[in-house]
Amino acid sequence: MSEYLSLEGRTAIVTGGARGIGKAIAETLGARGAKVVVVDLIMDLAEEAANEIATNHGVETAALEADVSDQASVKAMVKAAIAKFGQIDILINNAGITRDGLIMRMKEADWDMVLDINLKGAFNCSQALARPMMKQRYGRIINISSVSGVAGQAGQTNYSSSKAGLLGFTKALAKEVGSRGITVNAVAPGFIETVLTHELPEEIKEMSIKLTPMGRFGTPQDIANAVAFLAAEESSFITGVTLQVDGGMVM
Ligand code: NAP
Repeated sequence: MSEYLSLEGRTAIVTGGARGIGKAIAETLGARGAKVVVVDLIMDLAEEAANEIATNHGVETAALEADVSDQASVKAMVKAAIAKFGQIDILINNAGITRDGLIMRMKEADWDMVLDINLKGAFNCSQALARPMMKQRYGRIINISSVSGVAGQAGQTNYSSSKAGLLGFTKALAKEVGSRGITVNAVAPGFIETVLTHELPEEIKEMSIKLTPMGRFGTPQDIANAVAFLAAEESSFITGVTLQVDGGMVM
């Protein structure tokens, strides 16, 4: 019998996998035995991450460049990944950005960019992999949303909309592809210590901890653990759900 939650024999694409939460996810999937494709905009960091995973866990890895908001770039990346690994079993739509601001001051470009990367990016990657996953009758698609998409966050109308949109996208796609052995789920992190949150004012950070029953910020590893669970064979009857990994911040 294979090890519980083993990903041996599987290949995963992790977008935004060069750093932060994406890197922890890529590393954790590699540690469970998956071959890993680290997709990002900046290639030197992505290559570093891919090499680290290969060295630490003895799995095959690759670093591929793609802007998830650009359909042609995503199609080329998926083609290259399939050419190298033959089959992609797991897609983690993790790449995401913030461009915060109150609505009165939010620039149209900041609205568009956040929706294009966070929401359309997941559409582009999922669409590029939908046919091959349906053909192989196996797939795991995991969308990294946010508690801001579940509860809403002042100053983040663009980001909250993109992350709430991902939850609807997750459920709709889960219904479309379930009969082909593909599950689609979302993970909604709370406040996680990464570059994305590092710059926030101290008072916001303190307030976030107060609102979190577990009394601490999350780590990228907390998110990676949840993703690895949903990515495994054993989670084959879980689809369309949002797994909040937020220390109880939103309930
Ligand atoms: P991060 O440290 O900023 O990492 C995001 C990664 O995505 C970076 O490597 C970035 O590349 C890449 N990326 C950005 N735009 C891209 C694009 N168009 N195409 C491909 N890659 C792109 O962020 P993080 O904190 O790890 O967040 C990861 C995910 O978790 C995001 O979806 C975020 O919304 C979500 N999340 C984070 C938190 C948190 O507290 N940190 C909470 C809830 C949800 P560059 O280095 O080139 O920018």
